[in-house]
Amino acid sequence: MAECIFCRIAKREVEAGVIYEDDLCLAFNDLHPQAPLHALVIPKRHVVNLLEAGETEAELLGHMLLVCNKVAKEAGVAERGFRVITNSNAESGQSVDHLHFHVLGGRRMRWPPG
Ligand code: AMP
Repeated sequence: MAECIFCRIAKREVEAGVIYEDDLCLAFNDLHPQAPLHALVIPKRHVVNLLEAGETEAELLGHMLLVCNKVAKEAGVAERGFRVITNSNAESGQSVDHLHFHVLGGRRMRWPPG
């Protein structure tokens, strides 16, 4: 079976617009941006989605949220406002089965999301 695309990005086997990296996670620009800032924050380790995360991922999840903060601040959109979204399973719209937080900003967001 083909390896997960986000695992391949994490291993730098596939090109992506990486904007942040540390031991635990990576942030890169979404291929189909939905806002002036649309980055994805992923764990380097394969976790399918938030639903599949357990207590062992608690520290990782907290860390990823702080990286979302950093990404929004560094993009200069944090003060105006930004949104962090994660989709889990088919009905949410999850299309890549590797946990990722979307960080969106730089335009006015609508609510409820579609
Ligand atoms: P989701 O639909 O929540 O699973 O989000 C998956 C996101 O990954 C989508 O916004 C895609 O545009 C994005 N995406 C898929 N493949 C790539 C890639 N190779 N590089 C960057 N973003 C990607």
